[in-house]
Amino acid sequence: MHEIRVGDVTIACIVERDGPWREVNNMFPTADLAIAKRHLAEMEPFVYDPVSQKLVIPYQTFVVRTPRHTILIDTCTGEEKGYGPPWTFSPQPWLDGFRKLGLRFEDIDYVFCTHLHIDHTGWNTRLVNGRWVPTFPKAKYVFHKGEYAYWEAQAKADLTPGGNNPAVWRMNCLPIVEAKQALLIDETYSLDDMLFLSLSPGHTPYHCCVHIRSKGQEAIVLGDMMHHAIQCREPDWSTGFCTDPVQAAKTRWQFFERHAGSPTLMLPIHFPNPTAGRIEADGTRYRYRFQPER
Ligand SMILES: [Zn+2]
Repeated sequence: MHEIRVGDVTIACIVERDGPWREVNNMFPTADLAIAKRHLAEMEPFVYDPVSQKLVIPYQTFVVRTPRHTILIDTCTGEEKGYGPPWTFSPQPWLDGFRKLGLRFEDIDYVFCTHLHIDHTGWNTRLVNGRWVPTFPKAKYVFHKGEYAYWEAQAKADLTPGGNNPAVWRMNCLPIVEAKQALLIDETYSLDDMLFLSLSPGHTPYHCCVHIRSKGQEAIVLGDMMHHAIQCREPDWSTGFCTDPVQAAKTRWQFFERHAGSPTLMLPIHFPNPTAGRIEADGTRYRYRFQPER
């Protein structure tokens, strides 16, 4: 994604991995494959790879710069976490992308996590002398307190809802709280009068979207409220990684109804370049219009 501007704010991205990733039913267990194929044939060619029959799913971090602060939203999978395949990405593309934006770890003022999954919290911490420590020494990390409490309880009980590894909380979240760099907030939190949260539950219990508003313009980081543009055609298709797939679908229907036709720019974490786009109504369904069109 090219850097975009929302009033006085700029938003860039850092890509950790890109390209074909999961087959339709691996991503959306309830999807009808014939219907999916029909939709995909009508969609932009860069959202699906017909050779491998896999959806194109990047992992990325958004870098938001307000006049006062530099903020990361979602931090990919990270390095040295030892999860094993398929989470064996090289850390280099992310580090290169970070440096290419002229950033050092100490430049980051805030880190927001839309939710506390494996691919949204990775660079929160790094392994230094055998200990997980905050990667960004001066940053406050913004976690929804309900989300944090949920994953703490799951990890302590060694449970893995949606397949999320309990080590994610231990390695990526707990060390932030222990270092006193966590802000455990609720959805009323805002920063600089420019960043606001809205609850979008289902993928995880306290998943939040991050709204960025400046000078009458708005963009919304959607996190994993949706994973692929096909979900605008089929809002009922939730992933196998959702803690509550029915609620996730309900959240999408409500969100689409509310935002269809608005100029608000959407920033879903897992959509390929150019990533940003707008929601349009199309009969009883919706359509994702990438901006700029590629
Ligand atoms: Zn994700």
